[in-house]
Amino acid sequence: MYDVAVIGAGVVGALTARELSRYAIKVALLEKADDVAMGASKANSAIVHAGFDCIPGTTMAKMNVKGNQMMESVTKELSVPFKRNGSMVLAFGSEDEAMLRELVDRGEKNGVPGMKILSGDEARELEPALSAEVTAALLAPSGGIVCPYELTIAAAGNAMDNGAELFTGFEVKGASFADGVWTLQAADGRTEKAKYIVNAAGMYSDIIAGMLGDFYTLRPRRGEYMLLDREQGSTVSHTIFQCPSAAGKGVLVTPTVDGNLLLGPTSVYQDSRDDRSTTAEGLSDVARLAAKSVPSVNTRAVITSFTGLRASRPEHDFVIAPSAHSPQAVELVGIESPGLSSAPAIAVEVVKILGEMGLSLTEKAGFNPHREGIPKFREMSTAQRQALIERDPLFGHIICRCETVTEGEIVQALHQNPPAHDLDGVKRRTRTGMGRCSGGFCTPQAVEIIARELGISPTEVTKCGGESYLLTGKAKESC
Ligand SMILES: Cc1cc2nc3c(=O)[nH]c(=O)nc-3n(C[C@H](O)[C@H](O)[C@H](O)COP(=O)(O)OP(=O)(O)OC[C@H]3O[C@@H](n4cnc5c(N)ncnc54)[C@H](O)[C@@H]3O)c2cc1C
Repeated sequence: MYDVAVIGAGVVGALTARELSRYAIKVALLEKADDVAMGASKANSAIVHAGFDCIPGTTMAKMNVKGNQMMESVTKELSVPFKRNGSMVLAFGSEDEAMLRELVDRGEKNGVPGMKILSGDEARELEPALSAEVTAALLAPSGGIVCPYELTIAAAGNAMDNGAELFTGFEVKGASFADGVWTLQAADGRTEKAKYIVNAAGMYSDIIAGMLGDFYTLRPRRGEYMLLDREQGSTVSHTIFQCPSAAGKGVLVTPTVDGNLLLGPTSVYQDSRDDRSTTAEGLSDVARLAAKSVPSVNTRAVITSFTGLRASRPEHDFVIAPSAHSPQAVELVGIESPGLSSAPAIAVEVVKILGEMGLSLTEKAGFNPHREGIPKFREMSTAQRQALIERDPLFGHIICRCETVTEGEIVQALHQNPPAHDLDGVKRRTRTGMGRCSGGFCTPQAVEIIARELGISPTEVTKCGGESYLLTGKAKESC
């Protein structure tokens, strides 16, 4: 019996579980995939938005600005890289310039600090690669970048280190309430009981809400991206937006915290909640629109492309509220962008709501907000590398040459909370195979290490769980 069960281990569910793990209560994190961060939190723009885009007075606006302010300390505690690189919204003529003034107005009402409108020349002085057609730009120094899945993994890991329990492969298919207790049924027949539940199921949160008697509409909105080689990472230093429209924040050009350059996303509604394929049409739109902001952008240096799905409500605002029709349940629905930026603030809000519902919140002695991540060999000085190898010789064995990832890092990824079970899980935790060769050189060695550490045969190692056996199955088609 748990005090709280959080359904969904995306960035919102993971940070909520972590926030709950501060208290002397039993917390379960239930995730249908075989790892955390497998929904929108895996594939997005990775921007910590400043908060000037949100309509003043919305829940989205409040959570965005508060989450942005919290991101520095949360990422520091969790040893996750975060950079306040600042963002720019470009204007290409007088209509866009009017939009910039509107954004400043919204930003001031939302409490965004330090915004400034620059002339086209001032913008190009800061970012020489910008188009000569740029007539003005809104500069927001509080904008930042973070790795969304690294943050999710670290938050779930820290929650687990503080006593929360993670159940993967637990797809909630039914929920019933009797005698003050929720029973959650999984698709595979397992059940878990909890006094309070939190619906953080992202793209499926309307379906979970339906089980609780609440009615919400979500429409999946796809966003396609191109990720460019590290060589392109210094093309710009700020996150470069175009003016937002009804379709969203537009195509951006941004460095990532790992030094790549990211272009995208598109914004197209679709029926499927799961179709994350990329399309030639979508990627060519991304390339064309990115070149409008930064003409020199070199899309031939693409190393991968991907699609993320936004859980969009027609109202375009977050629902963070007690269930209207069920007791002891909190609904988090429509957490589309800026949900990543808002996640630390949403987690605090959820705990507040649970406290108001009657959950006893006594701070736990010994809660440790800190999590040491996996050492990043590629970022270390020679002296640091030597000290690490002396401590553990596995850090002296490079497996991924493109990203300089060592055997020691892979081994740690397979044992540290929440442990990786497959190649993609190792990749998200260490960047093994994320470089230019896309795993061509390191995959066979990584498979051997995974098999050895998990005590299984190499033929049983999967790319992404299920039937995606790397040596004998159709790994690509299954993931
Ligand atoms: C294209 C795109 C670009 C974006 N860019 C940004 C950005 O730059 N900045 C920003 O702030 N935000 C951005 N966002 C929004 C941000 O990614 C999301 O708001 C955030 O990741 C939502 O996190 P979540 O935990 O609510 O959902 P998710 O990450 O989707 O997690 C939900 C989890 O619930 C699990 N689940 C679903 N159903 C069940 C079930 N029945 N039982 C158990 N588990 C279940 C899923 O497997 C999943 O792991 C973007 C989103 C997209 C798609």
